[in-house]
Order: sequence, then C-alpha cells, then structure tokens
Amino acid sequence: MSVEYEIQGLPISSIAQRFGTPLYVYDGEVLRQVYQELRGLLTPQVELFYSLKANPNISIVNMLREMGARAEVCSLAELHTAVEAGVDPQHIIFLGPGKSDAEITACIRYGIYAIVTESFQELELIEEIAAHEGRMMSVALRVNPSFSVKGSRLTMGGKPRQFGIDEQSVLQGKEQFEKYTHIEIMGLHVYMGTRMLEIEPIVENTRHILELAERIENELDITLRMVDVGGGLGVPYHEGEQFLDISELTEQLNPMFESFQRSHKNTRLFMELGRYLVGTCGMLVSRALYVKPSYGENFVVTDGGTNCHMAAVGTGSYVKRNFPIASLTRYGETPEAEYNITGPLCTPNDVVGKRVTLPPVEQGDLLGVFHSGAYGPTASPTHFLSHGSPAEVLIVGGEAFLIRERDTPEDLLGKQRLVQVSPTPITNG
Ligand SMILES: *Cc1c(COP(=O)(O)O)cnc(C)c1O
Repeated sequence: MSVEYEIQGLPISSIAQRFGTPLYVYDGEVLRQVYQELRGLLTPQVELFYSLKANPNISIVNMLREMGARAEVCSLAELHTAVEAGVDPQHIIFLGPGKSDAEITACIRYGIYAIVTESFQELELIEEIAAHEGRMMSVALRVNPSFSVKGSRLTMGGKPRQFGIDEQSVLQGKEQFEKYTHIEIMGLHVYMGTRMLEIEPIVENTRHILELAERIENELDITLRMVDVGGGLGVPYHEGEQFLDISELTEQLNPMFESFQRSHKNTRLFMELGRYLVGTCGMLVSRALYVKPSYGENFVVTDGGTNCHMAAVGTGSYVKRNFPIASLTRYGETPEAEYNITGPLCTPNDVVGKRVTLPPVEQGDLLGVFHSGAYGPTASPTHFLSHGSPAEVLIVGGEAFLIRERDTPEDLLGKQRLVQVSPTPITNG
C-alpha cells in the first residue's frame, strides 16, 4: 500500500506542488520540541545561544528567539538578521577569526553583549574603533586551549588553529589586556568541535573549560562576566549513529554548571548550538526527474543535487555514508532496490545518496533527505551551474509558510554587469 509522507497533516505532494522543488521544509513543531526538551533539562543557569551559521533564515531565528534563545553571529548579515528577528543586543555575541572594520563598528553601535576576540591584533583594532566611537566595548577571549578531548568530528583544542588565542598567551597576557582604555576583557569562550554524539567528551570539555575560567581569573586578576562553553552537540546522520542521550548528558553537566555558578554568582554561563537545534527539523525534498540504469546500477536524477545539499556529499571520509533518505510519495512501501540519488550538476561528484535502498522509484516521485535543517543551503554551492538557492518553507500550526523564495535567473544575473569590450585595434607603428 502506498502511503504519502505528511508534515503536521499536510501531504508532502501538496507542499511540493505549491512551492516547487527542490525545497527545504522545516517542521516548526520538531524545532520547538528539540529546543524545549533541551531547555527543560538543562539547568536554568545556562543560557542557550543559537549559532546562526547552521541556518540563518530569519524566521528560524525568530522562532528560536521567541522560545528564549540568544544569538551567536559571525558576519554582518547574521548580525542584522538577529537584530531584525528581535534578538535583544544584550543577548548577541559576535565571533569569527576575520572580523572586518565594518563588523566591529556595527557590534559597537548596536551595543551587543560582547565581541569574542580571536587575536591580539584584533584587540588593537577593537580598541581603536571603540575609542573612535567613544564607547566602551565588552570583549571575551576565544581561547585555543592546551587540552583536547577525543570524540568530536573536528577537534579544535591543543593544535595550531586560526581560531582564538593560545591558552599560554592568554595566561601571560595580563599586562597587555590592562593597557586598553575602551575594552573590558570580561569573558571566556571555548569551542571544542562539532558533531559530538558521545556524552563523555562533552562533559570532559566542559569540565576543562570551567577550570580554565578559574585559571584565567587568577592569572589575569579579573572577574569573568561570561563563560561560553561552546557546544558542538551532534545529530545522527549515518547508519550506526545514535541520538545523544540528552537527559543523561544534562544530568552530568548540570551539577558542574551549578557548582561553578555558586562561586561565580555574576557570571553568565552560555552554551552555543547550531546543528543540534535545527538539524532534525529540516528535510530536503526533491523530485525524481529521470530514472535510468547504467552498467548494472540504477540512477535517480533529481532536481535537488549537492548544489543545495553539499553536506550530503560527505566530505572527509573515504567511504561515502548516506544521510537518511526515503521515498516520500511511497513512504509506506517496502524498500526493494538500490538507487544512486544524483542531481542536475554536470559533475560525477553530484551524488546525494549512494546505493540507497528504496521502493521502486518512478519519474515524478518525491524523495526526502532527512536531518537536513542545519548546514543546508547556507553551506552549499547554490550558485554552481547558476541554479540558485532552493525555496524554504516552515510549517507551523499545520500551515506552510514560504520563508525563502527560490532564486530566479534574474536574481542570479542581477548582480552581473555586461561589459562590452571592443577589440583593441591593431596599430601599425
Ligand atoms: C560552527 C560553530 C558553532 C556551531 O556548531 P554546531 O556544531 O553547528 O553546533 C558554534 N560555535 C562556533 C565557534 C562555531 O564555529
């Protein structure tokens, strides 16, 4: 029996019909559940910051803001997005290794809570701009710690990185930090890595960071007003990966935060999360344009390739591991054949899923790549072959809302300038 996939009672085919494909669909109910479950389990001492990098759509940011999330931004546009979504500037922090003059100036003028600095040279620039603006700026130090803990897919600590300032330099930086007149060094930020799916490394990271906070307070003789312990909590993508046990995790983290808070009553504690908050709520919906065999394998050529879902390519591992993929128009049917799911790009790398077992796929069927709410269009080469960004839809209260229009050829051409260069005449000297 053929059963169609539904989101909040809306059949996926009607959503695809209305908004076209390829299409990102976010289930607002799942977003709410994920946020509220974590918020309910985590000690209230810890404020949750949403890393816009994972999905910068303003409606997603707004929904998270309504539920109480703060914002961690890394570019001028992300800063504007957070402000326009209504995030209180005192709940915004700005970080990133390559901040421009314009970005630092905007942070100071908006009066955001803190700039997280990543180098001594950047401190000089913040001091200069703050003095010029006649303002005092709060600055947190992003520290590249001397410890590192295994278990992250991308380990940050204890090795040469372009991020942050090495722990040793920070601990020896007292004189340097004291000379500024328009900067207050008031916070610590450490981000240890991403896609963490095991409890122990997260707990160990956090323990180390809270200890580092105390060392910094002692060495620099300051009181920290904020400590951001990062996050990097993952979402399962591949076979064999499991959801983090969030209640076990918070059970282990909460006592550490609470005990830190008892001796640091005026320190705000932050955790910043991107993928974990938005990853599970989103799905890429694409349509099967053609189905064809080639040397014994089946290919489904869809309209949603890696140009809108680069993460599905699975860079960095030898064996391609698939995201969860299903037939949405034959959701109830038994998977019985293997298909390679490809897109419209003219490159053999445009493979969204390799040897995915699905019910028989026919032209016009809809396929879904699940757990795709984070690092979708934002981290994909959407301009490749000039296809442009896909449309994005948010489902709330059983209703579908367009939250990002699909790019048109006019959008893609609009920024280009046609320059008629006449051939240089050949002159005979
Ligand atoms: C990318 C990034 C995040 C978000 O990471 P997730 O794994 O998506 O939670 C948070 N903080 C910093 C500093 C980052 O670079």
